Amino acid sequence: ITPKVGISGCLLGKNVKYNGKNNWNKVVELLKERVNFIDICPEVLGGLSIPRIPSEIRDEKVINKIGEDVTKYFLKGGEKALNILKKENIKTVILKSKSPSCGYGKIYDGTFSKVLKDGNGISSNMFQKEDIDIVSL
Ligand code: SF4
Repeated sequence: ITPKVGISGCLLGKNVKYNGKNNWNKVVELLKERVNFIDICPEVLGGLSIPRIPSEIRDEKVINKIGEDVTKYFLKGGEKALNILKKENIKTVILKSKSPSCGYGKIYDGTFSKVLKDGNGISSNMFQKEDIDIVSL
C-alpha cells in the first residue's frame, strides 16, 4: 500500500510561498514515487494571497512585516488544513521548517531578522494536538 502523507505545498514545488516561489526539495521529489502526498498550504487555505507580506509569530500573535495582525488567517488556514488531513485519514506530515504556519520546534522570533526561537507554527501546533506525526524539513 502506498502511504498517504501530508506535505507543505511549497516543499512539493508549488509556488505558494509569500514571495510567489517554492521550497522544492530533492528528498521530497525522490519520495514522490513511493508516497501519496496530499499537499496543504495553510496560509493560502486561510485566505492570504500569493504573493503576500511575510509574517512571523510575536507574543502568540502572527504579525506581518508591516505590523498588521494576521493571526485570524493563520488560524483559519490551520483549521482547514487539519480538516483535510482528518478527511484523508493522514497521521504523518512533512512540514517546511521555520515558517509561522508550518515550522516545528524552531520558528523565526518575530523580529524579521532571521533569528530563530523555540516554538511551532500555528498549523503545526494544531496538528501536534491531534497527535499527527510531524517531520520538519
Ligand atoms: Fe509553505 Fe506552509 Fe508557508 Fe504554505 S504556509 S508556503 S506550505 S511553509
